[in-house]
This record gives sequence, C-alpha cells and structure tokens, in this order.
Amino acid sequence: MARAANETEAAGTARAGHVTGAEGGAAGSASGGGREGVVGTASLVSTQGMQSPPTTTSTRRRSLPGRTLPAQRRASVPAIVWPTAIPPDDAAPEQCPLCHAAIVAMPGRVGVFRHRSTPSDAACVLTTAAYQPSELSARGSRDPRIFAAQRRRFVDQWQQHYAVLRQLWPGFGFTRFMAVLACADVLSLWSYASMRDEDVAPLLLVLAGFMRLPETDDASEPATRRARWVRFWFDGSVRDIGDVWGARDAAPALYRVDYREPAATPFPTGAQVLAWLPVDGAKTLWARRDVLPAVRIETAQRFIFERFARMPLHEVA
Ligand SMILES: [Zn+2]
Repeated sequence: MARAANETEAAGTARAGHVTGAEGGAAGSASGGGREGVVGTASLVSTQGMQSPPTTTSTRRRSLPGRTLPAQRRASVPAIVWPTAIPPDDAAPEQCPLCHAAIVAMPGRVGVFRHRSTPSDAACVLTTAAYQPSELSARGSRDPRIFAAQRRRFVDQWQQHYAVLRQLWPGFGFTRFMAVLACADVLSLWSYASMRDEDVAPLLLVLAGFMRLPETDDASEPATRRARWVRFWFDGSVRDIGDVWGARDAAPALYRVDYREPAATPFPTGAQVLAWLPVDGAKTLWARRDVLPAVRIETAQRFIFERFARMPLHEVA
C-alpha cells in the first residue's frame, strides 16, 4: 500500500501518492495558466442529488429524544450512492463494484447502499475514512531484459497511449503524463512480461493517484458540490499491478471517482465522494488508436519525452 508521506516504504510498492504530490503541484500551477487538469465532468452524473436529506436534525432530537439513536446510527453509516447512469439491471447490486465486498440496501433510501461489514467501510475507497487507502503493489519480475523490451515498446507507441489516455480523461495533461511515467519506471512497470498495450492507459490513470482539478467560477454549483479532485481506481480484483494482466477473462473494471475538497485531510476520503462511474472503452480505444484525434505535442514536450525515452536503464531499473 502506498502512502504519500511514507518514504521508507518497501521498494516494491506502488507510490501513487508520491506521484500525486508532484502532480498536485503540477496541476495547481497549470490551472493558473494552462489547460492541464481540465476535466470533462459532463460524462459523470453526480450522485449527490440522490442522497436523502439528513435523517437526524436538532429538531428531531428535541421532539423525539427516544428515537434519536437509531437515526444517528443510520446517518453514521457510510453510504454508497448508486449512480443513476448505471443501467437498471445493475441497480440491485449485492457486491460493491469498487471493493467487491457484500453490500445491502439502506432502508428508506432508494439507490443507496452500505457495505455489510464495517471493515469493508474502512477498506473501500467509496467509504474509507483514510485519505491514503490501499494502493497497487508492484511485484513485477524486475527482469532488466523484459523491462527494456517493454519500455521500448511503450516508447515507440507513446503518442497512441497518450491519445487513449486523453480520450479516457481529457484532463490528463503532459506534465502529469511524464510524472506518472517516472513513477512507472520506479515501479518497474515495464518488467511485467504479460503486459498488454490496451491496459496501459487505464493503469497509468490509476497510478496517477489523486489529481487536483482547477478552480472554477461556476457559481451555480455550491462549493460543497464542486469536484476538486478526481481519482481512478480498478475494481477490487486488482491488488497488484500484475493482476491487471493475470489469469482472467476480461480486463478489470476501471472507475472514476470525483471528490469535493476535504476540510481536514490533505487528500479526499470516502466522505468527500461526489460521484463515481465505470470508465469503459479502453480496449476499443486502443484498437482504434490510429484513428483517434491526435494530441498536440509541443516541441519542448517532445524533447522532454525523448529525454525520458533515452534514460539509461541503470537509472530507472
Ligand atoms: Zn466497497
């Protein structure tokens, strides 16, 4: 599990939080003058409106003192608000999409669920109270020959990978792209022999960690409902990077979670979740990579990437 501030973590562990720190600064600076970090929130349906009003009020406590405890208990259970955009067939789920733990409907709240067990609340990104939840581990082969070959393969197709990334999330700018590639080197991402090209973009999105969004002046939306952070997560079947390519029939599901600004933590927790939705299409996008809209690459950016591409292996492996 990666923890942003824990620099003593074992070398074989993903440090998405470390990247997040770098990216937070990059996005913050870019938001002042560039397009880095701009997010197309139109693709996400906010689930905020589905939440019921608070079940406990000071008025109720005063008028019905004997009934306050159950209401307080209900209010304290972390809720999973089901996105309205997910097809009705999936609207009666028994399993949390993110962590795969059992969930049950919350009484009297349409489209709202909770984990069956409290430990699941603590572990799931939708409900955790931690701002540094479990990250992907990285237990690749660290075979330098595989690393070199896979890295070269990525370098040869980097603009196609970048174009797919931008299709999955337009806010993924070049600065962020290079930061997560530096992370991928440290994690020895390229030494997974079974790595598939079509899964690289989703994996880089996940490894990017929490990504800060630029400030907006949208006065129509209360600040408490404005997305200020976004993060991508694989479903609960992926604990190690290798699980993305492990023995399985299909690629793991990818989810995008939007968060409001946390008041008391440096990164959001489950309490700040505004919306979440599956992000489909990576495989199709990769198949269509040669006809995707080209991403404009500045000359300076090309030099930066070429420097990354030439980086001697002894510096990165
Ligand atoms: Zn969950």
